[in-house]
Amino acid sequence: MEPWEEPIRALPVSLPPVHGEVLGWYLHRLAEANCTLPGRLAQMLAPSKNPLVGRRTDAFRCWTPHVTTRLAIISGTPVATLHRHLPAIKRHAARVRGEVVPTRRDYYLTCPHCMRSQGITEPVLAHMPRALRLCSTHAIWLDGNTHYRVGQMPELITAQREHLRLASRFPATLDDATKEADKLIHSWLMVRTQPLLIDRWRQRLDQLPKAEPPPYSTLIRRGHFSDEREVIITYPEFVTLLELIADPRWRAHRILGGRQTTADEHEQTIDVVFTRLEQRLAVPTLRSMPERKLFNNDPLFRWIDPRGRIRFPSTYTGNPAHRSPKRSAQSQGTEAPADQIHSDTSPTNAKLHRMTTSSKTTSIPTVPAEMRTA
Ligand SMILES: [Zn+2]
Repeated sequence: MEPWEEPIRALPVSLPPVHGEVLGWYLHRLAEANCTLPGRLAQMLAPSKNPLVGRRTDAFRCWTPHVTTRLAIISGTPVATLHRHLPAIKRHAARVRGEVVPTRRDYYLTCPHCMRSQGITEPVLAHMPRALRLCSTHAIWLDGNTHYRVGQMPELITAQREHLRLASRFPATLDDATKEADKLIHSWLMVRTQPLLIDRWRQRLDQLPKAEPPPYSTLIRRGHFSDEREVIITYPEFVTLLELIADPRWRAHRILGGRQTTADEHEQTIDVVFTRLEQRLAVPTLRSMPERKLFNNDPLFRWIDPRGRIRFPSTYTGNPAHRSPKRSAQSQGTEAPADQIHSDTSPTNAKLHRMTTSSKTTSIPTVPAEMRTA
């Protein structure tokens, strides 16, 4: 009889999983609490030739119909609780039913303070809920390899609450909209076309400690921004953007695929979306472009009408109707005095400083008065 077929009984110390916990991480905690090896536990549950089980492992190579029941017995945890808290168990059950369930690698380390309140002495590797970015209770940023404290920026806590609300309002569009909003914010950060936003982000960066070697980089592999602090400082604007682009009513404005459109409809659509976001972001110069930058190359413009700059190439280039008196970043108070520049010399801080001092805004499209109320 193989180890996974032998009669089993409860381990001396019962231990429930943390919500979303990675299976391998849970087996390690369970084994440690009971002075045994995680591989030994794995062999009691499912067929395995390899006695080693990694902390990041989130599935057994071979499952049997008895895995969940056996895990419930040895851990002293009801089957329903395992289903609710362990994504690996839930995923396996769905696959048994014939459903296609992709494996997600959206790991994060739970808030250490929340864990301590449950009697757990270290963070736990878990799957991140779709709209979770920080612990609102302890103001700890969770979406990355470093647990930055962000309590000094209350707008982030507000954004987190709004993010969760959006996730329940727009579950069907949330994943696509998250990728799109992420890309849009990253573009604005990189192409340096929004001095008001850059200034806002630089002020937040000043409130964060310098980038440090991330303590959890061997556990979490996620690489969208080069500096994790870029995600933190742009988070409130990301959520504001998400509010619009996750909403199916606003997504319906987009001019996609082979949809035919007239120049008037195209311009009105661009105008309505930009007007809305200018209000929500409190950035009236969202359509302003620095020198040598074209409005129809703006990432939000391209999100609304990806082929717009090809179909209407001359609409926003050199057309006086889309220009306004010159404004410079300095005249809008966006250039920081030299003595206010943070001593942080990291690439992100240097990048943001370069943006605020070089983004001379030269034009702003005129928005028809009747559209401003849209
Ligand atoms: Zn917490």
